[in-house]
Amino acid sequence: MKIMVAVKRVVDYAVKIRVKPDKTGVETTNVKMSMNPFCEIALEEALRIRESGLAKEVVAVSVGPTQCTDTLRTALAMGADRAVHVDAGTAHVQPLSVAKILRALAQAEQPGLLILGKQAIDDDCNQTGQMVAGLLQWPQGTFASKVVLDKEKQKATVEREVDGGIETICLDLPAVITTDLRLNQPRYATLPNIMKAKSKVIKKVTPEELNVELRPDIEIVQVTEPPKRKAGVILSSVDELIDKLKNEARVL
Ligand code: AMP
Repeated sequence: MKIMVAVKRVVDYAVKIRVKPDKTGVETTNVKMSMNPFCEIALEEALRIRESGLAKEVVAVSVGPTQCTDTLRTALAMGADRAVHVDAGTAHVQPLSVAKILRALAQAEQPGLLILGKQAIDDDCNQTGQMVAGLLQWPQGTFASKVVLDKEKQKATVEREVDGGIETICLDLPAVITTDLRLNQPRYATLPNIMKAKSKVIKKVTPEELNVELRPDIEIVQVTEPPKRKAGVILSSVDELIDKLKNEARVL
């Protein structure tokens, strides 16, 4: 069985986000970019499944500008067998376009599992996995916190953290899984593997070759910073606190 993993290049989670002065988006020039943390978890899960002997190959896919090859090199250094870069040039690719691209690749590659992060930390869309499952008409296990595969029965059992407990679902393969934070702890790429990954070939395809038109469905009207938090106050007594909760915050 083959596993395909979608890995997105995003502004590193530790970077303080700066909104562009013209409010069209966030600053990405000269900003550290990394693999989306949920995609690292998706890749880690695929690697563990392969290492347990239940899959033969892990293919990492990234859609976006040329620099996505850096993210794919990290995926190769972590242990992916192959990498595919869908070169979207400078176009801003939205979840539906990514889902259509992943559908085309999944139809060509025929993986038993397509694993994505539950959300990208830049757009927080939480849509791509659900959309690609719908387009492919494959079952989906979203927000997975545990995945168990039964290769003989061609099924995957997925535990999902839902309000008030854990839901366990069983999916027929091929299926789409999106990963939650608690699924695993991704490995670090070792220096020798980072060096080896530099010389590996990354396959490049264009959206046109996959018959996908990168048409934005959503117009971003404006991006603004969240309102600044007001400074806190130190109160001298519990009575004063109760008074403020009653008369200022009006929550009591
Ligand atoms: P989103 O729906 O944008 O929150 O993204 C959810 C997941 O879809 C990500 O964690 C990735 O696994 C995948 N994904 C979204 N955009 C891309 C992209 N441009 N390239 C590769 N994978 C992507």
